[in-house]
Amino acid sequence: MKARIPTLLILIVSMVLGMLVTLLVGPLPPNARIQHLLVLLLVLLLLATFTQRMLPKPRPRRRTITVIKCLSCDMRLERDFREGDYVFKRVGKCRCGGELYIDMIYDIES
Ligand SMILES: [Zn+2]
Repeated sequence: MKARIPTLLILIVSMVLGMLVTLLVGPLPPNARIQHLLVLLLVLLLLATFTQRMLPKPRPRRRTITVIKCLSCDMRLERDFREGDYVFKRVGKCRCGGELYIDMIYDIES
């Protein structure tokens, strides 16, 4: 599939170039010139749509956040997710002496 795209693109581009040359220097009656131009525009439009579809969409970068809370006070802190994190996991002691636990793990676009 991927190998076919450049061939197709080259084909379309050379078609466009050929039409452009015919349009500019070819012996065409005035009526045919307008038709030629319309077809050329249509091909260009198709080409634009085609290339836009073929280009990979940029993936939004994601970040996983771990929210840590204290069982005894309202201390709350956020840090990047680490392997082994899970909700309700005990992760240490708070300054107040209470136990710290993971309250939430969520994903954000960054
Ligand atoms: Zn605390």
